[in-house]
Parts: sequence; C-alpha cells; structure tokens
Amino acid sequence: MLRQVAEGLLIHESEFCQSNAVVVQGRAGVLVIDAGVRGDEMACFANDLSDLGQPVVAGFSTHPHWDHLLWHASLGAAPRYGTERCAATVRDRLSDTRAKARIAELIPPDIVEHVPLDLLGLITGLPAETEQIPWDGPQVRIIEHQAHAPGHAALLIEELGVLVAGDTLSDVLIPLLDLNDTADPIEDYLAALRLIEGVADGVDVVVPGHGSIGGADQIHARIEQDRAYLHALRDAQVVSDPRVGPSATYDWLPGVHERQLQNLPRRRERGGTPG
Ligand SMILES: [Zn+2]
Repeated sequence: MLRQVAEGLLIHESEFCQSNAVVVQGRAGVLVIDAGVRGDEMACFANDLSDLGQPVVAGFSTHPHWDHLLWHASLGAAPRYGTERCAATVRDRLSDTRAKARIAELIPPDIVEHVPLDLLGLITGLPAETEQIPWDGPQVRIIEHQAHAPGHAALLIEELGVLVAGDTLSDVLIPLLDLNDTADPIEDYLAALRLIEGVADGVDVVVPGHGSIGGADQIHARIEQDRAYLHALRDAQVVSDPRVGPSATYDWLPGVHERQLQNLPRRRERGGTPG
C-alpha cells in the first residue's frame, strides 16, 4: 500500500479525501506523519511496515483536526508529537465526556464506523521553540504557523528535498480557513504561505495533507494558487479557482467556499481587524 515518493520517504493515500500518511525512514525505524483515517488502511500499512522490518519509532500530527490525529494500535506505542499549541488545542477539545461523540459527528456517515477514535489525539506537545522533531532520522524541521488550524506545522525534510505541507498547498482543496476565534484567518494563512515560500527553494517534492504529490515545478505554483484564492476571498473578487469550479474534485467544496465568503464580512463588521 505504500508508495515511495522520494528517497527514504513513503506515502499512503487514503480513500478518504485523498489523505496522505507519510512515512520517513530513520536509522532504527520510521516516523509516521498523520497516520491516516480508516482503521483497516492504517492496519494494512502497519502490516507493510512490519513486513519491511520497520518499527514505528515516532509519530507526528500536523494539526489538531480529527483526520490528522488518528492512530491504530498496530502502529505501536511510539511517542506521538505535535506543536505545543496543537496539543493544547487537542487537550481542550477532548476535555469533556461528549468530545468523541462530537468528533464522530464531524466524520462523514459512510466512513464513521471505520474510523477508530480510541487513540485519537494522544499526542505530546513539543515546546514552542522546538525546531525539529526529536527522533533518530533525517532532520525534520517544524515550521509552525496558524493557517487552517492552531499550531499547524509544515515539515521540511531538507536532506530529502521534501516539504510535508499539512492542509495547505493542495491541488484539490482550497485554503480552508480557521474561523474559530481567530481575528484574521486570511492574514494568518497568507503569513503561513510566506513562511513556506521562504523555505521552498530546494524542495523537490511537496506532500499535501490531501491531494496529489507535487514535484519541484509545483511548489511555487501551489503557493501562488492558494494566495490568489485568499486575495480574491479577502477582496470579495470573483474566484476563478479550478478547485471550486465546474471540474472540482469535491462537489461539496463550492459550498464551503460560499460559507467562507459569507462568514468573513460579518467578522469584519464585528471589528475584529481593521481593513
Ligand atoms: Zn485534513
């Protein structure tokens, strides 16, 4: 089930929303980033890893959304990390007894029974100034930003020329804004794109949280496409983005775009941010 997309880097693409789980080869085992969604898929790729003689030695969640916080018992009990802010958000959202029932309501009904929630969100927050994931393998640099979700991490594996983008730079999903308690979600997202752009030279492979893997020629194009969408949204201009156009991969996405458009002006009227 695993596909090599760079030297020492494998991915597994889920049936759910083209979610990419990322496996990085270390010295004594592998790092698993955003393990996946369906239990059977995670079990199957855990099985592949064990056939390869590769124990999972660390896990990482790029951001605090359910589809990036899952884990399967067969992947083992390695430490799982996220940024401090990501982990704090997860702790907060899981803090009451109804939490998992609420999360289950976010999961599409056709797959909810295949999504194991028992190990959801069991991550340790890495202190805010942590620059790399602590593990014995290629350096994985944490580029924290606040686009899409609190404490979101893009991960740069310079040695392999790989950027693991989390939920940005997708060829199928538009930038999805964090509209919960954020003063200026568009500016947060634009700031994230500037950070990513700052490390983009030398990236040969970009792995989005959802969608297809991009090559060296894709990284700047995807940054520009996300930025153009955000500018159009901010300035209430017509959005001509194929991801929400007639050929959109997901037919529910134009509706999400409409909701983003409608929710932003109201936020401004409440006086969240000037301009
Ligand atoms: Zn996602």
